[in-house]
Amino acid sequence: MVLAKLSSLFSSAIAIDLGTANTLVYMEGKGMVCSEPSVVAVAKDVNGRGDRILAVGHEAKNMVGRTPDSIQAIRPIKDGVIADFEVTEAMLRYFIRKAHDRSTFFRPRIVVCVPPCITSVEKRAVREATLSAGAREVFLIEEPMAAAIGAGLDVTSPTGSMVVDIGGGTTDVAVISLSGIVASRSIRCGGDKMDEAIINYVRRKFNLLIGDRTAERIKMNVASVSPHMKSQTMEIKGRDLVAGIPRVISTCSEELREALIEPVQDIVDCVHMTLECTPPELAADIVDRGIMLVGGGSLLRGLDQVLRDETKLPILRSEDPFTAVVVGAGTALDKIELLRDVALR
Ligand code: ADP
Ligand code: MG
Repeated sequence: MVLAKLSSLFSSAIAIDLGTANTLVYMEGKGMVCSEPSVVAVAKDVNGRGDRILAVGHEAKNMVGRTPDSIQAIRPIKDGVIADFEVTEAMLRYFIRKAHDRSTFFRPRIVVCVPPCITSVEKRAVREATLSAGAREVFLIEEPMAAAIGAGLDVTSPTGSMVVDIGGGTTDVAVISLSGIVASRSIRCGGDKMDEAIINYVRRKFNLLIGDRTAERIKMNVASVSPHMKSQTMEIKGRDLVAGIPRVISTCSEELREALIEPVQDIVDCVHMTLECTPPELAADIVDRGIMLVGGGSLLRGLDQVLRDETKLPILRSEDPFTAVVVGAGTALDKIELLRDVALR
């Protein structure tokens, strides 16, 4: 006990899931310590002094769509890749500082979860950004691998497991066996595309313009993509495109199912295509063990049922789809053997 306390004084370890929508941080010995939107508010350079970071996380997300021209709310991770390095580094620094308590003398060892198809240039960039944000040592783990560990799957055994991670910007499908990714596919379609589909539908059908946040709320509260579920209705406020004034309309789950056909079909196709390129022995394992869903997008009502109908395979959802990736990376941090096995070189 004393020894453990002493050693934690000298070292600490942090796992970070840098998602397109949310960033989650897990600390060794403490569990999840923070979860905030991956958004940074930046004041644009006006008098030659460079851009300034105004807010990160919740505070910055509340500014989305409500900022004056001189302030930009940036989501630095787009479509699963780092689109803006400086801003990402600032965001990493904010999260590391928030998580890392001052009772430790040394800088933390950090595991960062990265998209499965990351290039070597991007890998180097993430490593550098994490080091310069305050890490002592950096490990990278592919998100599907971390998700599988977090969802409780045995990734080291010679049995195939399939994980489908539906995030904000991307959906990643991967088959894992013997601590490695055997087959994977990634599409730029996730929760954001669903929001966009709802915005377009409401504009076409009701001539009403709604914002991203409203679309997301509709998706979470009333949207359902399986015909077998109970329908709900919801009032939506937006700006009438013809009259130019605010207006309220009402929409129901059936209408939203129609709105969401395209992104849902893209996700189903991605699962199908990954199954098609899975070696037969591992495909047989998936028939027995089913497909594990993680990521916030997997909470879309009825999506599990649609996947069940389309693949005829058992579909499971991890207990907490938002935290599976960071908890998995945190688990790997606690077991150094596992970490060495699954970390990217
Ligand atoms: P990322 O890993 O890319 O940061 P997350 O796994 O955190 O993404 O998931 C974020 C996405 O999940 C967002 O698009 C959000 O709108 C969506 N989401 C969250 N809750 C729900 C819900 N109840 N129903 C449908 N989508 C949801
Ligand atoms: Mg994610």
